[in-house]
Amino acid sequence: MNAAQFRKHGKEVIDAIADYYENLDNISPVPNVKSGYLYKLVPDEAPENPESFETVKADIETKIMPGMTHWQSGNFFAWYPSSSSFPSIIGDMYSSMFSIVGFSWISSLAATELETVVMDWLGKLLGLDKRFLAINEDGTENKGGGAIQTTASGAMVTMIATARDRFLESLTMQQAIGEDDVARLRPRFVAYFSDQTHSSGEKAANVIGCKARILPSNDDFSLTKEVLMAAVEQDKKSGLIPFFVCGTFGTTNTAAIDDIPGIADVAADNNMWLHIDAAYAGGALVCPEFRPLASGIERADSISINAHKWLLTNFDCSALWVADSTHLVNSMGIRREYLPRVKGDTSFVKDYRDWQIPLGRRFRALKLWFVMRMYGASGIRAHIREHVIQAKWLEERLLADGRFEIMAPVVFGLVVFRIKPTALSEHDRADKDVINKANIDLAELINNEGRVFILSTMLKGKVALRATIGAVHGSLKNVEVLLTVLQKHFAAAINHELVIKDANDNDSSLPCIPSFFTDV
Ligand SMILES: *Cc1c(COP(=O)(O)O)cnc(C)c1O
Repeated sequence: MNAAQFRKHGKEVIDAIADYYENLDNISPVPNVKSGYLYKLVPDEAPENPESFETVKADIETKIMPGMTHWQSGNFFAWYPSSSSFPSIIGDMYSSMFSIVGFSWISSLAATELETVVMDWLGKLLGLDKRFLAINEDGTENKGGGAIQTTASGAMVTMIATARDRFLESLTMQQAIGEDDVARLRPRFVAYFSDQTHSSGEKAANVIGCKARILPSNDDFSLTKEVLMAAVEQDKKSGLIPFFVCGTFGTTNTAAIDDIPGIADVAADNNMWLHIDAAYAGGALVCPEFRPLASGIERADSISINAHKWLLTNFDCSALWVADSTHLVNSMGIRREYLPRVKGDTSFVKDYRDWQIPLGRRFRALKLWFVMRMYGASGIRAHIREHVIQAKWLEERLLADGRFEIMAPVVFGLVVFRIKPTALSEHDRADKDVINKANIDLAELINNEGRVFILSTMLKGKVALRATIGAVHGSLKNVEVLLTVLQKHFAAAINHELVIKDANDNDSSLPCIPSFFTDV
């Protein structure tokens, strides 16, 4: 493809993208295929001879589209949203244009400096403490700052490794420790999470080879100071080394908020690293009215917020801030002769490869820059508030219906609910498993119909349904559709009328996703 052909076909693709977004409401967000469908549709090998653009493009429609889960659909209420906006797509196009590998300042000056700028902009927009900013008010450099990671999970691994190395460093300063001592100490390191912390916490502990203590959350699904403190005390007595705790602002299951000030106290008393995982709900902090809920995060060592979840920026764009980048750079910075550093005056020189696990990095700052400039702070706030209004609307309607109960406070764009036991027959409501099954069946009936997509989860033994409102291109109309389908399938769910469809036995024309709901 030469530039002239790219000019032509690129414009056709822009049209296809715009058409897609304009027609999202007309397609099912749930795919309608059996597993392995694609292997049967495509050749076994890459083509020997070049194919035309038209041929490949046609396959997007006929082969890829049917197997897509449409995350951008306003009728997609599963997991947490994955943002996408036109300004962000445009920023990404420019990023593709440059196709840099921006691992250091020398390798990509503008990309590095723009990243510092947009991370400070975003930090200020979210009202983060000035400890987390890279540039002080007087224009001098600060120890803190942010860098864009691929995902919140990546940020978690990066921070837990940094925390371990900081702790080892502080030990070295107190006493002489050799390599053997370090090897002996490492397995005694213990990191703390709650049973509601995102799975990436436990995974990060596995990756660095430390113990993960999964503490019980309380009745409102948050981790409390008392529970953490007791565990830390007990572990210290048994010779373990507490070094890291993750506090969550907006858990994945219910958007619960941990007792962050309490956790910060325990972290401070025990020289532990405090990481705040605000992957989803952190986006709400652009609106000042949500900031009191996040009190205590100013005391964290690191904060992670996914711009790709609720801040209009397409995947991947996970913002990570640290209060003191020295620890991060000490942990992640490895020297090699092919990675030259700036000599002499290194002020305002950042090598972001030392702020993350991989070496290479995309020019992601561009999409955040386009989003922040083209929406403006006011536009981003309006976007968040609109979703919260829609979530409250859904909550109100579910309560007004009388047959549902709300399982966790509706604070952000997430509504967690279930069929009220009293809506079941007297016989059924006495059996926990039957109540759970009715809720799973409701989700499954809805997803089999395929107009909307929701998920179930398990909260302390109770199955609940999760509906997240956050689609950039969605509106209240989509939430109305959700309410309609919930009511439509209600009777079938409580009357045990679900016919289990096997994804691999799909002879119906209805969308069919495998049964992957919580087992009871
Ligand atoms: C979604 C989520 C994550 C993981 O996000 P990735 O960027 O996909 O790794 C982590 N923590 C919380 C609280 C989340 O909701």
